[in-house]
Amino acid sequence: MRDGQPHAIYLKDYQAPDYLIEHTTLDVDLGEDETRVRASIRFNANPEGKGKRELTLDGGKDLDTRSIAIDGRKLSHNEYKIEGETLTLFEVPEQFVLETEVLIKPQDNMALSGLYKSGDMFCTQCEAEGFRHITWYLDRPDVLSEFETTITADKSAYPVLLSNGNAVAREDLGDRHRVTWHDPFLKPAYLYALVAGDLEHIEDHFVTMSGRRVTLQIFTEAHNIDKVDFAMESLKTSMRWDEEVYGREYDLDIFMIVAVDSFNMGAMENKGLNIFNTSCVLAHPETTTDAAFQRVESVVAHEYFHNWSGNRVTCRDWFQLSLKEGFTVLRDQQFSCDQWSPSVCRIEQVQMLRSAQFPEDAGPMAHPIRPPSFIEINNFYTATVYEKGAEVVGMLATLLGPDAFRRGTDLYFDRHDGQAVTTEDFVQAMIDASGADLDQFQTWYHQAGTPEIEAKGHYDAVAKTYTLTLRQATPPTPGQSEKKPLHMPITLGLVGECGSDLVFDIEGCSAREIKGPDGYSRVLELRESEQVFVLTGVTSKPIPSVARHFSAPVKWIIDYSLEDLAFLSRHDSDGFNRWEAGQRLAIHLIDALERGNDGVSCDEASAMFLSVMTHHLKEALNVADSDVDGAGLAYNLSLPGLAFLGELRAEINVDSLVKARNAVKRMVADRCFDELSAVLEAALSDDSFAMTAEAVGRRALVNVCLDYLLASQRDEAVAIAERVYRGADNMTLWAGALRAVVGSELPSAPAARAWMLEDFYARGQKDALVMDLWFSIQAASGREGAVERVKALMAHPDYTLKNPNRMRSVIGAFAGQNVSGFHESTGAGYSLLADTIIELDRFNPQMAARMLGPLTRWRKYGAARGGLMKAALEKIQAQAERSPDVFEVVGKSLSDA
Ligand SMILES: [Zn+2]
Repeated sequence: MRDGQPHAIYLKDYQAPDYLIEHTTLDVDLGEDETRVRASIRFNANPEGKGKRELTLDGGKDLDTRSIAIDGRKLSHNEYKIEGETLTLFEVPEQFVLETEVLIKPQDNMALSGLYKSGDMFCTQCEAEGFRHITWYLDRPDVLSEFETTITADKSAYPVLLSNGNAVAREDLGDRHRVTWHDPFLKPAYLYALVAGDLEHIEDHFVTMSGRRVTLQIFTEAHNIDKVDFAMESLKTSMRWDEEVYGREYDLDIFMIVAVDSFNMGAMENKGLNIFNTSCVLAHPETTTDAAFQRVESVVAHEYFHNWSGNRVTCRDWFQLSLKEGFTVLRDQQFSCDQWSPSVCRIEQVQMLRSAQFPEDAGPMAHPIRPPSFIEINNFYTATVYEKGAEVVGMLATLLGPDAFRRGTDLYFDRHDGQAVTTEDFVQAMIDASGADLDQFQTWYHQAGTPEIEAKGHYDAVAKTYTLTLRQATPPTPGQSEKKPLHMPITLGLVGECGSDLVFDIEGCSAREIKGPDGYSRVLELRESEQVFVLTGVTSKPIPSVARHFSAPVKWIIDYSLEDLAFLSRHDSDGFNRWEAGQRLAIHLIDALERGNDGVSCDEASAMFLSVMTHHLKEALNVADSDVDGAGLAYNLSLPGLAFLGELRAEINVDSLVKARNAVKRMVADRCFDELSAVLEAALSDDSFAMTAEAVGRRALVNVCLDYLLASQRDEAVAIAERVYRGADNMTLWAGALRAVVGSELPSAPAARAWMLEDFYARGQKDALVMDLWFSIQAASGREGAVERVKALMAHPDYTLKNPNRMRSVIGAFAGQNVSGFHESTGAGYSLLADTIIELDRFNPQMAARMLGPLTRWRKYGAARGGLMKAALEKIQAQAERSPDVFEVVGKSLSDA
């Protein structure tokens, strides 16, 4: 690498800090032109450090340093050195107090990391390395300190001043005022938060399991205060759930959430003061879809759960990010499964994994859930660290069973409370609590790539045995050519001829049993490259239901016949695998159509697939019955997404893939038009809006039917969508009808599109998140002329690159969801994305790097498209001023390794 280029840091180079911080006092004087930060930090030499008496602190180029003093004595220029983004103190005692004063300009901070302004309010985002943009500090997660913050600001512009912990003093200074906050819990700087603004709040209470009364507050700007009740309910449900399921009680007397418009992430778990992107906290039937409601609930839960898995027990270094994220994502997934249909939740989790994580694991940015190195940690807030990380902890839970897993988490929290630890510490707690052999399991933490497992079965009617052979292999990833076999749970059921589960034993091993009301499974432990399981006592010829509830994050190769798949999609007792069987059938059909030279196989697959769709549609007609899982049926009726279909191919031919999938969609729409219309009518309800599983399921069915109907060749479908839109009282149906019409090629679609877009836009003028949806529905539409449409959206007065939500609603939706538009054959979509990233990188490198994802997969798209994608990456690489964030992703994408 050339001089001056960003350099990588390595996990193997980790060293304990030479100093620890006992206490941090911040005095933050907020101003419109500049903000003055006085810090007083009590340092103690770390007995586990190397005894160096020179101390280097982290800062940013944005710190204007006014004074530096140690133990009350101002340092002269030869006692320290400020170089780039570090401050080195040459000779410091074993214990001392460092006092610094810096000026910063939050109003110019467009990177949205550190202290910045979102609209009229001040707020912070310190994870991962934002605190160093506020003051000089040992900004690393293994340095935990007590914090006291005094905020001074104009009283009328910023009546609300918040930080972590409890408010301990307030002072009126005339035009200005001052509040002091004290957080008694030790925490790393990444969990620090400060908010100042003209905010309203709602307040509620929660009584913890030991009887303590905790005040709960959610703050927003005045115009959004009617949209936070759902988040408050979600918070209380999460607090109760974490007590009941994990035995975790909240610790401070107050818990606050603040909603912020401009935010790079979803939300942030700062101790006692969570800061949320408005998109993850505001919810109202008229502005929020059901999916977004559920996202609010799960993100509120996720950030709350971090209070233990992340805050009380934190990460030693950023390589351990999955320690807190993987575990906490698993916890929020378990929580959601307990609130809604577990199989639907699981389907959504797996769709996310397959469309975001599997491609990442197969591309140039592939990394283990604990990466060995990085240039910019912000690039590792990935689907791998989060979603695959959750799968890995979930596999531990499946292997150990619920009781031993709970003993393991209890031990982990008790043993490491107040510490900064590693993923090995987590697994060790599981081992110590259960006695399980998890040595081989640790490989999941340092091996990248998605394993592929081939399953072959054979039934012996005389011996009443079923022999299942599993073969696993993980393809090479950059920097890791050799892969080891992994230890994983395979939850297996056998479906008998009559459609119910068979009970069975396993020769030579004691696999855990999972018994449900109408299901029977056992948890096989796969460890070898090839392993044979002999199942005994199998009374009739079974169809295996492999990896129920998606028990491991792998790709399966199973030689099912079309009949087997059709049978499983009707009868499997596992809701996830019922859906999975239907998806396999659809994939089979789409593949056959794409190959196009195999008429017999296409006809057979079409017939089988249509019979399954008809079966589900018949069931869906009874959606008014409360025992029908409408959301589950809506998924059973949906086709696999293009991202996942692409992932299954060695090389993606966008044109033939999109054409084949559209053909299947149109076939279902035309052949089942009347059934789809009937289900839609049955699912439309006169009841007023409710956020219940039944109501959500009905709305999901309406939308999936609309999506098909508008893809048919019958123009009357447009009128149906218009009627649904006009009769609706909620955003789920408005957005569903609009999306279907925006994507439709039917003759009367343009007229319907025009009035619906206008109506939707008017709703958006009262709510920024609705406006985001208005942009994203149009940007994601695969109809002809997508690039020009997106350019027009970007020229719209309501569009801005500076707000991450708005930027994502256009650029993210276009590059991430609009497969045919983005991959338009001239490469215009690639150029548009590259130019936007170049502009974005000038002020928000984190978001710029994150937008690169679709281009990094250029090798999958063949010579012509791949070449154009590569050229777009090279254009970005040729820019004189790239951030380290963009440098790292583009560099890896273009490298030959
Ligand atoms: Zn998190």
